[in-house]
Amino acid sequence: MSKIVLALGGNALGDTLSEQLAATKIAAAAIVRLIEAGHSVIVAHGNGPQVGMINLAFDAGSKTNPKILDMPLTSCTAMSQGYIGYDLQNAIREELVSRGIEKPVCTIVTQVRVDEADPAFASPTKPIGGFYTAEEAKELEAQGMTMAEDSGRGYRRVVASPKPVDIVEKESIIAMADAGHLVIACGGGGIPVVARGNGLAGVPAVIDKDFSAAKLAEITNADYFIILTAVEKVALNFGKPDEKWLDKLSIEQAEEYINQGHFAKGSMLPKVEAAIKFASSSPGRKALITILQKAQEGIEGATGTVIEKE
Ligand code: ADP
Ligand code: MG
Repeated sequence: MSKIVLALGGNALGDTLSEQLAATKIAAAAIVRLIEAGHSVIVAHGNGPQVGMINLAFDAGSKTNPKILDMPLTSCTAMSQGYIGYDLQNAIREELVSRGIEKPVCTIVTQVRVDEADPAFASPTKPIGGFYTAEEAKELEAQGMTMAEDSGRGYRRVVASPKPVDIVEKESIIAMADAGHLVIACGGGGIPVVARGNGLAGVPAVIDKDFSAAKLAEITNADYFIILTAVEKVALNFGKPDEKWLDKLSIEQAEEYINQGHFAKGSMLPKVEAAIKFASSSPGRKALITILQKAQEGIEGATGTVIEKE
C-alpha cells in the first residue's frame, strides 16, 4: 500500500460545467481504482479554464451592473476550488458507494504561502481573463495591473507565477488523510498568500498546480506523486518524426533533457520540474507522469514515465 498524491490536469476536468460533470466521473473511476487496490490518495487539481471563466464573468458583470463588483483573483481561485471540489467529491463519493467502499470525501479550501521576494513577481508571465484595447489596458495599468499584448489578439492582464513555499492548511489535510478521509486540496495550485501581521493576505498571482501538488506530496510524506494528464508518457522530440517515449528517468537525465529543451514551457516542463523536485526530496520517493485512465497500470510499472533517484 502506498501513499499517493495525485495531480489532475485540465483534461480531467473539461472546459464547461457539463464537460466537468462527465470528466470528473472518469477521474473518480481512476481514483477509486487506486483506493480499491489499497492505496491512500490525496487529490490536487488544476483550474485554468474554470478560474478564467469566473474572472471573466465578474469582469463583464461589473461593467454593466453596479451591484457586481470586481472580484479579486484570489477569491476567484477560492470559488473555483469550491465548485470543482463539489463535482469531484460527489463523483468520487458515488464511485466509492457503488463499489461498497465506506470513506468520507472532502474538499479543503487551500491557501499556499509564497515568497514576496520570489523573482516571478518582477516579471509576471501568466495571462488571465479577457482581452482589452490599448486604451483600456493603459487605464488598468494606472490602477496597478500589469498588462501585456497577447499574440495580436489584444491586451490581457498578466500575473506572476511564484513557487509554493508552504501549505497553510497542511495540518488539517494530514489529520483528515490519516483518519482515512479522501481529501481534495490545493485546487488550481492553491490561493497564493503572504503573511501580514497575524493574518494572511492574498496576492494576485497563479501558482502552478504541478508545483503545489509536488509540495503537497512532500509535506504529506507521500511515496508516489502522480501527475495525470493528456499523454501516457513524457517524450523526447515531442511531436517530431524522431519522437521517443520515455519509461524511466533519473534526476540527472531529466535535468539534462530540460536543458536540451525537450519539454514545452507551461505544459510539460513544470510537470518534469515538479517530478524532479519531489523525487529528489527524499530517498524512495517516486514521481510518475501518465494519462488519467492508466494511473493504476502506471503504479504497477506497466506504463507512464517514472522519475526517481538512481
Ligand atoms: P495539464 O492540463 O494536465 O496540466 P498540459 O496541457 O499543461 O496538461 O500539459 C500536458 C501536455 O504537454 C501534453 O498533452 C502535451 O501536448 C504537452 N507536451 C509538451 N512537451 C511534451 C513532451 N516532451 N512530452 C509529452 N508531452 C508534452
Ligand atoms: Mg498544465
